[in-house]
Amino acid sequence: MSDLKIEQYEYIEKLKRIVKNNYLETPSFCVVTFGCQMNAKDSEKLAGILELVGFREIIDENAADIVIFNTCTVRENANNRLYGRIGQLKTSFYKNENKIIGICGCMMQEKSEVEYVKKKYPYVKLIFGTFNLFKFAEILYEVISKDKKVYEVIDKPIEIVENLPMKNKYSFKCGVNIMYGCNNFCSYCIVPYVRGRERSRNADDIIDEIKLHIKNGVKEIMLLGQNVNSYGNDLKDEKCSFKDILLRVSNIEGLYRLRFMTSHPKDFSYDLIDVIKKSKTICKHIHLPVQSGSNKILNSMNRKYTREHYLDIINHIKSEIENISITTDIIVGYPTETEDDFNDTIDLIKQVEFDSVFTFKYSKREGTKAALMDGHIADDIVSKRFDRLLEVVREIADKKTKQYIGIESEALIEDIEIDKKMFVGRLDNNYLVYFPMSKKNIGDVVRVRLKEAHNFYFVGEEIV
Ligand code: SF4
Repeated sequence: MSDLKIEQYEYIEKLKRIVKNNYLETPSFCVVTFGCQMNAKDSEKLAGILELVGFREIIDENAADIVIFNTCTVRENANNRLYGRIGQLKTSFYKNENKIIGICGCMMQEKSEVEYVKKKYPYVKLIFGTFNLFKFAEILYEVISKDKKVYEVIDKPIEIVENLPMKNKYSFKCGVNIMYGCNNFCSYCIVPYVRGRERSRNADDIIDEIKLHIKNGVKEIMLLGQNVNSYGNDLKDEKCSFKDILLRVSNIEGLYRLRFMTSHPKDFSYDLIDVIKKSKTICKHIHLPVQSGSNKILNSMNRKYTREHYLDIINHIKSEIENISITTDIIVGYPTETEDDFNDTIDLIKQVEFDSVFTFKYSKREGTKAALMDGHIADDIVSKRFDRLLEVVREIADKKTKQYIGIESEALIEDIEIDKKMFVGRLDNNYLVYFPMSKKNIGDVVRVRLKEAHNFYFVGEEIV
């Protein structure tokens, strides 16, 4: 066990004692998550510690004794959303001065944001960043035991601290980090600055964690990393590529489904396509962000592939894996994007016929190369392009989903919706299907027939 981990477990024990002695009733916590799957995973780590030391989770941030905001800084408006929420907590803080409000995550890696919080929101008691999240128990102990504020952000990763407590949001599925950070420095992206360079987890640690999740009832695992395809490049003591770890995980006994996110087209190999094709557990869904269909823009974004290369991978995937679902991300209005560049993007989307496209308007992030570029596009032009893009994406989705009508498939029940009358299940290809509730439960796998297509989801029936 690493010294850092032993230390944190000691703080967890100290916190347990303090919580038992300081509160008459079981105190509550609320972790508010902004951003991506990596942040969602980090929030599960925070919740795991809070629950272990004696807090209970609630969803009302006004009522909670501890509220932690786990922030994202990928988009500009994320800051406004965060500060709005913190401002609203001022009243509940002054009603209960023992309330602890904390902020962590990517935004706190930016010095200017930390200064802003200190100045504008003096009732925030703890701040930490992405590199010392593993020290949450220690930081919280300092805050509670000494009744003081702790603002501790470091600008470099220390080491990967394994096996700290975790509380999975869902009992039947969970994400597992295989690596942290990113080396790619796409011109528009702040992630490498706030999450650091790539650090891969040891393969055996990943396997052990997944086996434990499966033992606890998890059916579906999503391997997480900013660029999973470069997993293993930095491992010194062992040789293990993303293909290798994917294969090892896919063969773990008891695993029903395996997904991964996010892939980078420059590193997506033909070998990987073969592994996906032959596996029974790896889902037939690939999310491969292209961002733009214009070579000029891709070059300026520092994406290190061309549209031809991207299309080549897609064609190979489609020819090898029948009925594969392919999704992507697109940024509209990147600096210097002309009508011709945008039309190249539309053309690529039509060629690939993506099952779904996550569309984003370019968001200027200070500290990135793109923020300093000339040629930022006016908002009204970006909005018009964005709407045109959505129209094309919807038309394609409409055509694609209709092809699935009548098909039978397995769905993992994830939720109950529509006046508590319908189950929401996820198919292997990542589409959702709504179907009338039966005696089954959330987390069960059922066979369904798809009856109606609604752009990005289906309505179906259970086959009994
Ligand atoms: S691959 Fe590019 S877009 Fe993705 S996290 Fe790294 S720098 Fe950001």
